[in-house]
Amino acid sequence: MPAPTTNLEFHGRTVTVMGLGGFGGGVGAVRFLAETGAKVIVTDLRSERELSPSLAQMDRAWPITLRLGQHDEADFRNTDLVVVSPAVPKNSPFLAVARDAGIPLTSELNLFWERNRGRVLAITGSNGKSTTTALTHAILESDRAPRRCWLGGNIGISLLPDVRRIQPEDWVILELSSFQLEDLAPLQPRPEIAVVTNFSPNHLDRHGTVEAYRAAKQNLLCWQATEQFAVVNALSEVADWPTVATRLLFGPSDSGQLGIFGEGSEVMARMPAESSCELRMPLRRWLRLPGTHNWQNAQAAIAASLAAGASLEAIEQGVSNFRGLPHRLEFVADVQGRRCFNDSKSTTPEATVLALKSFDEPTVLLAGGYDKLIDLSAIAATAVTRCRAVALLGQTGPRLGKLIEQAARAANVAGPICRGFESLAPAVAWSLQESGPGDIVLLSPGCASYDWFQNYIERGEAFTAFVAAHAASKG
Ligand code: ADP
Repeated sequence: MPAPTTNLEFHGRTVTVMGLGGFGGGVGAVRFLAETGAKVIVTDLRSERELSPSLAQMDRAWPITLRLGQHDEADFRNTDLVVVSPAVPKNSPFLAVARDAGIPLTSELNLFWERNRGRVLAITGSNGKSTTTALTHAILESDRAPRRCWLGGNIGISLLPDVRRIQPEDWVILELSSFQLEDLAPLQPRPEIAVVTNFSPNHLDRHGTVEAYRAAKQNLLCWQATEQFAVVNALSEVADWPTVATRLLFGPSDSGQLGIFGEGSEVMARMPAESSCELRMPLRRWLRLPGTHNWQNAQAAIAASLAAGASLEAIEQGVSNFRGLPHRLEFVADVQGRRCFNDSKSTTPEATVLALKSFDEPTVLLAGGYDKLIDLSAIAATAVTRCRAVALLGQTGPRLGKLIEQAARAANVAGPICRGFESLAPAVAWSLQESGPGDIVLLSPGCASYDWFQNYIERGEAFTAFVAAHAASKG
C-alpha cells in the first residue's frame, strides 16, 4: 500500500482494536485511528482495572467505545477492520467471526509498516532483542548525521501515531517479536538491515512447533534484497538462515567473512566497503554491561550500526554511555563496596545461570518466586560454584534450597549459606550482611513473580528501592 496522501484515511470508519494490552501497541493503534477520524471499539478480555495504565494514556475526547472484560461477536461483524494484538491466539473464535463476515484483519505493526517511509533496521531473536535494539538506537542517536532516529516495536513503543512525521532519510529501529513477524509475512517485509541475535525454542505454547516459530522469525530475512544487510550470530543456526542480503556475522573468532569478531579486549569489524581494511574497537573498555551475552548483543548492535553508516565516534559514545535496560542485569548501586544488580526480568533458570556466569566475583543471589513447575536444578548447580549465599524467595524458595543442598553434597563442597524469606525487604538486608566488599549482590529470580508482585517490573523496582535505602543509610 502506498504512503497515505490523507490524514483522514479512516474517517468515519468503524475499527475494532482487539487487545489493548500494556505494552504500547494497543494504545498506539487507538491513538492513530482516533486521530484519523475512525470510530474505535476497544475490546479486551482484561478488566478496566487491569488495563488502567493503558486507559490512562487515552484522550477522553477520542470517539471510543470500550468493551472490556469480554468480547462481543457483534464488534467483529459490524466493523470495517479489526486490529489484532500480537498476543491474541490465532484460533480465537472471535477472529473466526470476523473472517466469516469478510472483515479484514491487521495489526498495529502492519498498519505502521504499510505507511512508514523511513529506513528500517529491524531486530529479532529469541533473547537479547530489547538490549540490542536499545543499544543500536543509542549508537545511531549519537551520530551527528542530520536525520532522526526512531525507536519502537516490541520494545514497548508504538511508532504508528508518528508514522507521518518519519522522513525517508530517518532510521527506524524496530524490535520485532515472532508474533509480529508472523503477522507481517503477507507484506513481505524487506528491512534494509535485519538482525537476528540467536534462536532457541521458545513460545512453543503459541507457535505449536519449533518449525513454526523458526519460520515466523525467518520472515525478517527471507524477503530481503541483495543490496540489504542481514546481521546474524555466527554461533547460532541463524547464521545459515536463507537470505540474499549481504551477511554480516558476529562472533568470537574471525571466520574471514564480513562482520564483527573478537572476544578478548577488542573487536574487529570487516565491512563490505572497507573489506580491505579492518576496523578495531576496544569494546571491553567501552562496554559497561556484564556477561558474554551482552558482548554478543553489543557486537550485533555495532555491526548493524556500521551497516547503517554510523561513525566510530558514534559507536564509542553510544556504547560507552549505554547503561543497559532496567531489570536486565541492571547496575543499581554500590553499598559499601558490594555492587548490586537487578535482573528481575530473569523468569527462567537459564537467565539466572547466565546472570551468575556474568560475574567472576563471589555472589550473593536472591532467587525463587512463583511456581511454574519448572526444573530449577541448573540454578542450584551454578549457585554451588559461584555463590557465597542464596536468599530463597517465594513459592519455589524451599525447593530451590533443597536442590542447592543436594548439588553441594554431590559436588562434595560446603555450598552457599541459604535462608528462606517471606518478603523481599529482609532478604535484601540479609544479602547485604552476608556479602563482603568486592562481592556482587544479585536479584535474578529464575522464576515468575506473581506470588509476591504483579510482574517482574514491580519486583525489580522494589529491590532497587530497598538497595537504594541501604545505600543511603550506609553512606
Ligand atoms: P528480549 O527482548 O529478547 O527478551 P532482553 O534484551 O530484554 O531480551 O534480555 C532479556 C534477558 O535475556 C536478559 O536479562 C538475559 O537474561 C537474556 N539475554 C539477553 N541477551 C542475550 C543473549 N544474547 N543470549 C542469551 N540470552 C540473552
